[in-house]
Amino acid sequence: MAEHESLEFGKADFVLLDNVSMEEFMANLKLRFEKGRIYTYIGEVVVSVNPYRAMNIYGRDVIEQYKGRELYERPPHLFAIADAAYKAMKRRNKDTCIVISGESGAGKTEASKYIMQYIAAITNPNQRAEVERVKNMLLKSNCVLEAFGNAKTNRNDNSSRFGKYMDINFDFKGDPIGGHINNYLFSQQGAPDSLLRSLHIQKDPKAYNFIKVGGHVSPSSLQSCINDGADFKAVADAMKVIGFTGDEIQTVYKILATILHLGNLTFGVDGDVTLIENTKLVSVIRELLSTKEENVEKALLYRTVATGRDVIEKQHTTQEANYGRDALAKAMYERLFCWIVSRINDIIEVRNYDAKIHGKNTVIGVLDIYGFEIFQNNSFEQFCINYCNEKLQQLFIQLVLKQEQDEYQREGIPWKHIDYFNNQIIVDLVEQQHKGIFAVLDEACMNVGKVTDEVFLQGLNTKLAKHAHYTSRKLSPTDKSLEFDRDFRIRHYAGDVVYSVVGFIDKNKDTLFQDFKRLLYNSSNSVLKAMWPEGKLRITEVTKRPLTAATLFKNSMISLVENLASKEPYYVRCIKPNDVKSPLLFEHERCRHQVEYLGLLENVRVRRAGFANRQTYPRFLQRYKMISEFTWPNHDLPSDKDAVKRLLQGCGFDHDVAYGKTKVFIRTPRTLFSLEEQRAEM
Ligand code: ATP
Ligand code: MG
Repeated sequence: MAEHESLEFGKADFVLLDNVSMEEFMANLKLRFEKGRIYTYIGEVVVSVNPYRAMNIYGRDVIEQYKGRELYERPPHLFAIADAAYKAMKRRNKDTCIVISGESGAGKTEASKYIMQYIAAITNPNQRAEVERVKNMLLKSNCVLEAFGNAKTNRNDNSSRFGKYMDINFDFKGDPIGGHINNYLFSQQGAPDSLLRSLHIQKDPKAYNFIKVGGHVSPSSLQSCINDGADFKAVADAMKVIGFTGDEIQTVYKILATILHLGNLTFGVDGDVTLIENTKLVSVIRELLSTKEENVEKALLYRTVATGRDVIEKQHTTQEANYGRDALAKAMYERLFCWIVSRINDIIEVRNYDAKIHGKNTVIGVLDIYGFEIFQNNSFEQFCINYCNEKLQQLFIQLVLKQEQDEYQREGIPWKHIDYFNNQIIVDLVEQQHKGIFAVLDEACMNVGKVTDEVFLQGLNTKLAKHAHYTSRKLSPTDKSLEFDRDFRIRHYAGDVVYSVVGFIDKNKDTLFQDFKRLLYNSSNSVLKAMWPEGKLRITEVTKRPLTAATLFKNSMISLVENLASKEPYYVRCIKPNDVKSPLLFEHERCRHQVEYLGLLENVRVRRAGFANRQTYPRFLQRYKMISEFTWPNHDLPSDKDAVKRLLQGCGFDHDVAYGKTKVFIRTPRTLFSLEEQRAEM
């Protein structure tokens, strides 16, 4: 009996549940987890539960079992999805993408690595040197990005602090010839402790304030290319292999060192003069940044402002100076990360001119992005993340339903309407021009005079008073779960989330003083200078406001979704079984909540209302003709369509299928699995 039918391991596809209810769904998920079956399908969607232990299911032998096979032929696996995406691309010349979602620690990044590994393993059968080089680059670049972009958090020892979308380009033979990475970064609070600590500038990590922030000094969490105890040199070596120059690597080192030293810089007052208490550090920073000492000091203590036609230098209070210093460290790190991504892109870009112009050049995109976040305390970051998930859910709805609809129409099969919640209304609530939440936020940030988070909340209350998915204490005074002047609540598709407006204004604005940008631009280190082109502007020229964080994020989400929408999507939904990283514990309530907000039950319903599988008639015959005397070894019916009909009638599956113009549609996976079984018994 095929593994997918063995009741011992539960149902391999949730579509096979007798009743689509939360209870049955959860029972199946739990049973499979406990039996070490961490993957389960919903049609072509993989639901994955983090096993929190090494699984012996990713080896070369397993890869061979999935290579070129159809999804339903083997037990559910990431490899099957990767193979489906690859096959669709190669056979049908389609761009495809694999969208991996789930909360922090659910296993997204691990999944994306297994998918990459699989694709690397099944391509380039002829061992072409150039293709091997590209594959190596793609895998190595991942290590470097993890070193800079991951950090230990209380939810995940190796948490990605950035969303990542990676395109892999393939040539007409189906071999990788290049790639491109987009990063969606904003929750980075600075450099990962482990990376900074690995610099060994001073032995005692406690000597650096930025490492102590958060109150813990954690062991190195850099994984993959850097093991515990290894240092920055390992990262530098990886960068060198990829093609970063010596100057560039030196500059990276200097920037990281600067960030560490900035954390130790303290300010004091003498009369009404603000000053730097540890001036020796200024010399160190000056040297690292290749700037003039007095410029460093000035940028830290003064702000140049234009008042009408005059330009004056305004001294910071110690509070402003502290704020400026922290903003500088944060901005330098963010810019460094973006610069590394763009350098990697230069390096992995499709080089071969012929490959670009001639023949087909197709793409598989892999998206590893933060899932829905609902914390005790939710702020701007959670708001952006959850908006991102609304966008992805909207895409899911559009693509899954639209694709089905289009195909049924093309094939002349009657379409059955499926009821689902369309979350477009929530997407609009956030991103609509003039009256969406981001627009209200940007407007509040543009105000001159005292701009506070409360002013922003008042703006929301005025503009959104009647919106069914928005509320606040002012609008529902009896709701004690919301604080006056602080909270608003959004009814997301995945559930209600209360956000605190504290920090929204600050996080939305580009808070780095122009003086710092100018300081970095005026460095005699050309690599550093190139990272800060906007430092070129003189104060009187800085008239246009830089785009806000919200607008930048919104724009990047809109183009991400446009990009994904142009591709054929495959989904991996990751679930975190418990909060203590245990391989044994299946916390029912935790998992149920995730199943709910990932919309998995709805997914099963949509899937069941449609057809689980479709195949062209010749393809179907090729695979199953041996199970019927009418079709084996050949049929004498007028068409392949007639032959398929005859075969299915003979097996008693006629009631579960529909016959389109070119394809047979099979409603339930059960039928498909039975066909597979009969085939195996032949
Ligand atoms: P974040 O959003 O914080 O980046 P994530 O969803 O990317 O989280 P991962 O870093 O992929 O989470 O996984 C967290 C940890 O869970 C891994 O470091 C690993 O220990 C374990 N893990 C995840 N997937 C697997 C797997 N398939 N096999 C074994 N262990 C796994
Ligand atoms: Mg991750």
